[in-house]
Amino acid sequence: MGKGRKAFADPNSPLSEHQVWAILEPYWTELVSVFRHAGYPEPGKVARIQVDTTWRDSCRHFAGAAIDGSKLIVAPELADLPVPSIRGILAHEGGHFVDLGNPGRYWLRPLGSVNVRHGADVAVLWGGGSIKDDALVCFEKLPEKNLRKHLRDWSERGCDEVERVADVIAEIVIGQKIGYVGPPSCLIQTIGKGPSRPKGLR
Ligand SMILES: [Zn+2]
Repeated sequence: MGKGRKAFADPNSPLSEHQVWAILEPYWTELVSVFRHAGYPEPGKVARIQVDTTWRDSCRHFAGAAIDGSKLIVAPELADLPVPSIRGILAHEGGHFVDLGNPGRYWLRPLGSVNVRHGADVAVLWGGGSIKDDALVCFEKLPEKNLRKHLRDWSERGCDEVERVADVIAEIVIGQKIGYVGPPSCLIQTIGKGPSRPKGLR
């Protein structure tokens, strides 16, 4: 490119924030609509979408949900991924927003250990049959007794549980599996193929 020519004349120049969001926005809008129709409005409450050129600190970090549920952060490189991965990553973040927007509600539990003390107030949303260690349970009503401890335990769930909860919520909502593809050191989400999220993936 000749000196003095504008950067946007180069077809290989990085996308601007507006261009990144122009590519991603239809997928996000569609996802928000699917979540809302399924009765999960939280991803639609996200106040801000931030394109952050510094976000991508590893080969597999393309997006993140702010812990207070206020914003979705995306790396510009997300716009370059295959569409199933864009959808898979955004659906996973949608799962985080549902989880984070409902403190104390969603847990992974070995199915056999679902606490019957809370009776009908605890719904098993996912899992069963031969699945013994990966059931998603939802506290429809938070326990009155020991509520502080319940919320503290929820906020201290391990990374594997938090990440898997996001995937399972997404899977329930979109009706498709969130799978992981790519080299073992750089697995990223996709939709409808690949194994579930392995433990320890960061
Ligand atoms: Zn995540």
